Amino acid sequence: MAEIVLSNVQKFFGAVQVIRDLNLTIADREFVVLLGPSGCGKTTTLRAIAGLEDISSGEIRIDGKPVQDLEASERDIAFVFQLYALYPHLTVFENIAFPLRAAGEGKADVDRQVRVVASALDITHLLQKRPSALSGGDMQRVAIGRALVRRPKAILMDEPIGALDAKLREDMRSELKRLHIENKATSVYVTHDQVEAMSLADRIVVMSEGVLQQVGTPIEVYQNPANLFVAQFIGSPVMNIAAAKVETEGGAARLRVGDAGEAFAMPADLPARIAASGRGGEGISLGIRPEGVVVARQPMEGTVPLEAHIIEPLGAYDIVDLKVGSGVLRARTASGFVQKAGDTVFARLDAAQTHFFDTKSGQSLAIRLGG
Ligand code: ATP
Repeated sequence: MAEIVLSNVQKFFGAVQVIRDLNLTIADREFVVLLGPSGCGKTTTLRAIAGLEDISSGEIRIDGKPVQDLEASERDIAFVFQLYALYPHLTVFENIAFPLRAAGEGKADVDRQVRVVASALDITHLLQKRPSALSGGDMQRVAIGRALVRRPKAILMDEPIGALDAKLREDMRSELKRLHIENKATSVYVTHDQVEAMSLADRIVVMSEGVLQQVGTPIEVYQNPANLFVAQFIGSPVMNIAAAKVETEGGAARLRVGDAGEAFAMPADLPARIAASGRGGEGISLGIRPEGVVVARQPMEGTVPLEAHIIEPLGAYDIVDLKVGSGVLRARTASGFVQKAGDTVFARLDAAQTHFFDTKSGQSLAIRLGG
């Protein structure tokens, strides 16, 4: 079991800085997912924890012990790569047994431990096969088995299911979660897939261009994104972001989105909340997920008439693009609720689901309104 602490970690490749001042504490037995777009430094961070990559400055401690001067093999950490890297000439049994044999364990112990891991991964029936006879999902199970069999302090995984098809990825996600619960090894997992991150993580670490953007539980990063990057990276379809201006009219607050003619009704305390965040009413971006744009067929208190532009039927629900001035707000509606492009519907914004950001810095103003 292991706590992993990164303090002020910097990493340069030549003149290019790929990790900037990274501070992160991963608790013993926690499942942490490093999430971000390609090239943001996730893999480099993982390899630095494993000891496969030196850091330029800062410190990495595992269970309180600085590990920079330890070789990868001395860190008691297992690594699972996207490509399974199995020994093709060995059976599944021998592939899983390999780290135990390398550590000089006796035959009976090897046999017992391989069978425990194989049973947990549901691959006992494959033990005598060679990797070439396995499907992609089973090969990855074997690779994970080989990583788990030594019962390492921590297990690091770099896009381990990225190469599998969608159905298998879903199956493997639930399996990885179950294995983590059973094994209780501290787990650090790299992916660029936000759905995978949301479903697996105790906490998600969102990274962009080598900079940690936010750390939080899946619900925290979804409901309270710290900045525009996180707001738009987490959630599908992405959160609507639009320039917005807060107005008051006879004591009532309204929100004008982009250059739209009509403004949306908002709770009366919004202007005071914006002022308290140190902002005037301008230079602000509204963020609202499609489920926060509520659509009705008839005008109601606080709704604005909008024309439907494109309707995307997704089976369980539709995503409808609504024209707001020269821009678009995407709404999530019941399947078939808006019948055709060109129809006018009446929309309001669910205040409890609004987010406000400083357009220039991208930082959230951390205003949460009541419903
Ligand atoms: P991906 O999902 O594409 O692997 P990532 O977020 O894991 O992306 P890294 O692999 O950590 O990103 O790479 C971060 C940056 O460092 C990239 O710009 C990459 O090109 C660069 N980089 C990675 N390894 C090296 C290396 N050995 N030498 C030089 N540059 C490197």
